[in-house]
Amino acid sequence: MRGHSSGVLSCLERERLEEELSEVRDRGRNVSRLRHLTRPERMVLEEREQAARMRLRDHDAEHGCQR
Ligand SMILES: [Zn+2]
Repeated sequence: MRGHSSGVLSCLERERLEEELSEVRDRGRNVSRLRHLTRPERMVLEEREQAARMRLRDHDAEHGCQR
């Protein structure tokens, strides 16, 4: 299960990063469904998601496989 937002995936590394991002997202969603998260916990999850998103963006910038 992953969110294909933009067309074709031609790059394995990018695919992996995208999977990582959606995993982080799913995990955060699941945890917050099970119990109430404290503010620090929520921040850790957000940071993790952000980091995964940054890796994806960096990959795009460096690799240019989206063009
Ligand atoms: Zn790539």
